[in-house]
Amino acid sequence: MAPSKDIYLVIGGSGFVGRHIVQQLLDRGDTVSVFDIVQRYHDVPFYSGDISDESQVADALRKSGTTCIIHTASPPAGLNNAALYFKVNVDGTKAVIAAAVATGVRKLVFTSSAGVVFNGGDIIDVDERLPPPQVPMDAYNESKAQAEAAVLAANGKGGLLTVALRPAGIFGPGDRQVMTGLYQVYERGQTHFQIGDNTNLFDWTYVGNVARAHLLAADRLDTPPPAPPLSEFEFLPATVDA
Ligand code: NAD
Repeated sequence: MAPSKDIYLVIGGSGFVGRHIVQQLLDRGDTVSVFDIVQRYHDVPFYSGDISDESQVADALRKSGTTCIIHTASPPAGLNNAALYFKVNVDGTKAVIAAAVATGVRKLVFTSSAGVVFNGGDIIDVDERLPPPQVPMDAYNESKAQAEAAVLAANGKGGLLTVALRPAGIFGPGDRQVMTGLYQVYERGQTHFQIGDNTNLFDWTYVGNVARAHLLAADRLDTPPPAPPLSEFEFLPATVDA
């Protein structure tokens, strides 16, 4: 893919998905900075800050000259801390939107989650028209759903264009959640149990393809519909750490 005309700020760019997005932007020659509470890489400009502080986000947007935000930040799933989820995912995402509008950013791509429509039952052959459940699965998914709604409601505000993506399970190099959990199960010797009748399915996407989807969404955000046919998109083969 050729570089785009946008200047990117990847919020949560020190994380698993965020880092793959940064890498793909660098690979195609784009200008990119990272905003995060922790710094793990030193090859792009880094802005240390918390998204729940609008002034920190706005400051980074001004200094970096950002025209497109890719917002991947969230506390990890599975914490027993509803207050943190609502502070970061809901209040923080609203602060990102406010900072984007205040600084004239054109595009906002938000990493949502397939969990926003999941409450424990089977979900088969649905699309984005499926509404969030009456009773959310947990605070993480409820906060992601509220964040996603805020992002989509902000579309058009002050010229800002927004889009939200809903990945399900993500695997690949750099993952610190899924493989760690699976390995802990293995270490506890819990490899001989079965959940359900062994016919359940779950969506998994290679992290490189999740990252690619963010770049494609950003690239197409200011292109009038209809979207191009899927055959135009190339998908990456999955790789694993050596
Ligand atoms: P991750 O924990 O690896 O990365 C998240 C990053 O956000 C971290 O670098 C963290 O420091 C940063 N962050 C957290 N709170 C912050 C704050 N208040 N201000 C600024 N930065 C903050 O997680 P990930 O697996 O890369 O997930 C990225 C996104 O994808 C998340 O929004 C998550 O909800 C979503 N998602 C992940 C999965 C998955 O399987 N990993 C599945 C569906 C959706």
